[in-house]
Amino acid sequence: MKVLVINSGSSSLKFQLFDMQSKSVLARGLVDRIGVKGTSLLKFAVDKNKEEKEVQAGNHQEALETVMQCLVAPGKGPLTSLDEINAVGHRVLHGGKVYESVLIDESIKKIIDDCSIMGPLHNPPGLMGINAAERLLPGVPQVAVFDTAFFQTMPEKAYTYALPYDICNTYGIRRYGFHGTSHRYVVRQALQLPALAGKEKKAVALITCHLGNGCSITASIGGKAVDTSMGLTPLEGLVMGTRCGDIDPAIVPFLQKNAGMSADEMDTMMNKKSGLLGLTGISSDMRDIEEAAERGEDKAVLALDIFCYRIIKYIGAYAFAMGGVDAVCFTAGIGENSPIVRKRICKGLGRLGIVLDEEANEAAFGREAIISSPVSQVLVAVVPTNEELMIAMETAEVTAKTD
Ligand code: ADP
Repeated sequence: MKVLVINSGSSSLKFQLFDMQSKSVLARGLVDRIGVKGTSLLKFAVDKNKEEKEVQAGNHQEALETVMQCLVAPGKGPLTSLDEINAVGHRVLHGGKVYESVLIDESIKKIIDDCSIMGPLHNPPGLMGINAAERLLPGVPQVAVFDTAFFQTMPEKAYTYALPYDICNTYGIRRYGFHGTSHRYVVRQALQLPALAGKEKKAVALITCHLGNGCSITASIGGKAVDTSMGLTPLEGLVMGTRCGDIDPAIVPFLQKNAGMSADEMDTMMNKKSGLLGLTGISSDMRDIEEAAERGEDKAVLALDIFCYRIIKYIGAYAFAMGGVDAVCFTAGIGENSPIVRKRICKGLGRLGIVLDEEANEAAFGREAIISSPVSQVLVAVVPTNEELMIAMETAEVTAKTD
């Protein structure tokens, strides 16, 4: 079975084509600057052969058409015919209360459209990608894999905000959670770690830390999410590259009244000008922050401190909320590649019985590794995420169910 995975952004379309038997990637790439006349760029890779060229992509359909031409290009593409594509999996940010990956029909498209108010930057382009794929591959099953779905198992006490109940009901205000595909994949991988083999799967309590440009942390028991740090939108929770994460909500009306900032200005400030970037004025990229902290720059030292401290607080809270924790897993760009961040966090978790294996931590870059010492009471692991493969697996599963 071959599954095409599509991740549509407002001006980009990323794709990967999977062979599901071997779980291998047959081709991958992206079309960037969609709709920016004369400058759209296609990147296409099959194994180590990479191609980059300017293309005409005025919209998502033209972008996908270009990708498909490459997939079947004689001597270059991995397919002889587009008929070989058995299903298409779409990454969709917000699925509201939809709790699993689903075959797309008109009612699902309406839900995606309705949820655009909560995911204005992602849901509309997601729909564009779906419509384009439907037109170009008629009759091929299209599956939506929602970033929010993994969190639908959370109990009411974890997803309800203490605002007037009716207001929340009317506007659909609740904790939805994001990065669900990543957390689901990492949890699945972690549950297969030999180090956890002796535990009863149903009861294994995990804390997964997705630390990339966006950062989120999830508590799960037996593979089911019980709490997560992102909320109605991806703004809540940890300190991120450009997002502030948790703040006192009263700061919003305070600045609106006292600094004359509009709702849109507040939104932009909290989402795009805060986090590591806002704290330092240097960069949103953790590598730059680590380098600046190494040079002794005060703001970078403080930003690194705040970043790690927030994560320590969440891990402590989730460990208590679950009545204990069996493993803490780090994933995504920072989680997989920053021994400095992992070490600082683990140092703050000594009271949980966490003991880091410093050598293993220093050696773990972008690959699965246990980084806790054998005497540690909680396992600590680096588990690389693979959202695209997870989307492909979900797509294959949904397609098989509906066959
Ligand atoms: P996205 O959320 O966009 O998928 P990634 O998961 O790629 O992002 O993570 C990007 C983050 O990972 C950036 O802050 C980057 O600095 C950080 N990162 C990547 N490699 C390293 C490294 N070697 N050390 C520290 N941080 C790293």
